[in-house]
Amino acid sequence: MSVSRYAIGADIGGTNLRVALVKSDATVVEKVKVSSSGDVVASLISAIEDLYTGETVGIGLGLAGVVDRKRGVVEKSPNLPSIDGVSFIDALGKRFPLPVYVDNDANAAALGEKWAGAGTDFRSFVLFTLGTGIGGGVVHDGRLLDISAELGHISVEASGVRCPCGNNGCLEAYAAARAMVGRVVEALEGGAESLMKDCCSGNIYRLTPEDIYRYALEGDGLARETLKTAGRYLGVGIASMINVFSPEAVILSGGLTGAWNIYVEEAIREASKRAFPELFRSVKILPARLGDDAGMIGAAHIVFQKEQPSRSTAPV
Ligand SMILES: [Zn+2]
Repeated sequence: MSVSRYAIGADIGGTNLRVALVKSDATVVEKVKVSSSGDVVASLISAIEDLYTGETVGIGLGLAGVVDRKRGVVEKSPNLPSIDGVSFIDALGKRFPLPVYVDNDANAAALGEKWAGAGTDFRSFVLFTLGTGIGGGVVHDGRLLDISAELGHISVEASGVRCPCGNNGCLEAYAAARAMVGRVVEALEGGAESLMKDCCSGNIYRLTPEDIYRYALEGDGLARETLKTAGRYLGVGIASMINVFSPEAVILSGGLTGAWNIYVEEAIREASKRAFPELFRSVKILPARLGDDAGMIGAAHIVFQKEQPSRSTAPV
């Protein structure tokens, strides 16, 4: 009889910190979500303490930013600067008697989708995470590529607007949630006519991407144009990735995929014009299946990959 094994999987993003206890069959047993605006390490430790069981074999973390996997250090996190330079292996290793593994958050999401989500049927796919920022992961020949895959920071405008990473013209600065909200606020400040002026009790600085989508569905011109423009840039990024990796699929995850019929459909239209037709014809563009759980499930999967049961205890 096989013994159930558990891992803690955490997804540490620009807005939220999500932590789950995950079973070795990819089931999420229990999960918690807290804001990542406070002390991230303290919040993470507290969440792990709540979820930890005696059968936990390790802790896996997906972290927003460029990560040094060996040292467990976040080298640069444009969307969560408070974790720049933090060594999570040290911080958690002191508190828990468990191995700790780290990867980039979008890589973890790609692993999650490969293991138990929309990517299970594909040998190769490119995953975009579309939220506050944009991240990515690339699976090729059945394996997650050990690359930074900062898909949000490919340049889509040579002399474009400033991105939090320090570069100009990044995909993220045009197609992510923060960019969309920024564009709407700037337009409204400039006196643009839009129903969104009356949003959020008149406080336009509280506008969210969900608000923009809602107004777009009501036919608001500025809201629709904002989503379509962002989608067009996303399509530029998707086309580039199709031409580089010739994947079987492009999987789109994150909150912005809720605006699929405007934002993503515009992206697909744009990508179809730009990617090599031979490659575009054979690629499937589809939504992720694990939703917000993908990063946690993928981070837990890293643990299970590394912490195989020893032969002496494995069932025969
Ligand atoms: Zn950038």
